[in-house]
Amino acid sequence: KFPPCASDYYQSDDLLTMEEQAFRVKVREFMEKEVAPIMAEYWEKAEFPFHVIPELGALRVAGGTIKGYGCPGLSITGAAISTAEIARVDASFATFILVHSSLAMLTIALCGSEAQKQKYLPSLAQLKTITCFGLTEPGYGSDASALKTTATKVEGGWILEGQKRWIGNAPFADVLVIFARNTTTNQINGYIVKKDAPGLTATKIENKIALRIVQNGDILLKKVFVPDDDRLPDLNSFQDINKVLAVSRVMAAWIPVGISMGVYDMCHRYLKERKQFGAPLAAFQINQQRLVQILGNVQAMILVGWRLCKLYEKGKMTLGHVSLGKAWISLRSRETVALGRELLGGNGILTDFLVAKAFCDLEPIYTYEGTYDINTLVTGREITGFASFKPAF
Ligand code: FAD
Repeated sequence: KFPPCASDYYQSDDLLTMEEQAFRVKVREFMEKEVAPIMAEYWEKAEFPFHVIPELGALRVAGGTIKGYGCPGLSITGAAISTAEIARVDASFATFILVHSSLAMLTIALCGSEAQKQKYLPSLAQLKTITCFGLTEPGYGSDASALKTTATKVEGGWILEGQKRWIGNAPFADVLVIFARNTTTNQINGYIVKKDAPGLTATKIENKIALRIVQNGDILLKKVFVPDDDRLPDLNSFQDINKVLAVSRVMAAWIPVGISMGVYDMCHRYLKERKQFGAPLAAFQINQQRLVQILGNVQAMILVGWRLCKLYEKGKMTLGHVSLGKAWISLRSRETVALGRELLGGNGILTDFLVAKAFCDLEPIYTYEGTYDINTLVTGREITGFASFKPAF
């Protein structure tokens, strides 16, 4: 048995099956050995360490909960805990997997034809090919259901026209899952677009102060032809996208859990090692209080995240449940990384110490997969029966 990390204070490993525990250990060992030593450097360079992809593929994290087609078929708890383990070392890496696996691959698995699943999922599961999830547009972020990219039926296929923004993995994705409004039905449909399709360009968004390893892209679609075979047959409205988002939001909730675990573990070590006024920082009351506040947050986050997985497994999880979970966990995590940054003093702003990177990375996580506000309003709508924002569908 792998020694528990300090952040697992309530021994939540006990909540996992032996299989889930073993997988968690495998992912943790991989992240500690292969990824932790290089992350700060790649974060600074804002580059993706492509050389790690084959090993990550062999780890069998991509495809998460998808069964068959060469995918690992993990339990949702297993997929969630492995997401947290990845995020514990690096949130960019966890986001890369979230987009590839829980957003784009899951869209193909839930809404694709049998032929599409057989054609695309096996190589995506091995990370031999990479995909992305193109929903957000320059003018439509929280309001994504009002998206304006169009899909017009022509002989043998569709013509896609429009723009996408912020799309993770887009600059190097081999196949892109793109959502567009069918000009005949006015509903949203989904398409698989190959990277070399004429008229398609994906440009890396520069100057990010967070998740710098993730390559986010602006996508331009100028009369891009997509054959009929690459339209996802079971994606016929925004409600179908919501089925994917319900699962991916569970994973998105576990990313800040993992980040906070990493921050606690780092701070716990640091406070015992560094001395001021002749004593370890850990001996001072205020530092202990901050550390315990972080620890309490982490324990509560794990339990909320775990409960979401169980509700999902029982078929009881609603969009309100998962939205509250993602919103609340990212709020607590934002507090946690700020406390961690403070505990490290000056070193809290250096990427060498993980906490600074976590502090920055948490910001977009608070925003993507539904902002804190939108997620709380989704839950608000569910518990009151009043929609305080009006989706366009
Ligand atoms: P806006 O919608 O403009 O919101 C700005 C502010 O207004 C927010 O605080 C928001 O909460 C608030 N607000 C908006 N409407 C309301 C309302 N009705 N009531 C109250 N408050 C409101 N998208 C993809 O499709 N694929 C990806 O792979 C992807 N990856 C991303 C990665 C990163 C690093 C980032 C930053 C974003 C990514 N996104 C992706 C986009 C992400 O989902 C959007 O950024 C998010 O939905 C918010 O949209 P916005 O940025 O346009 O903010």
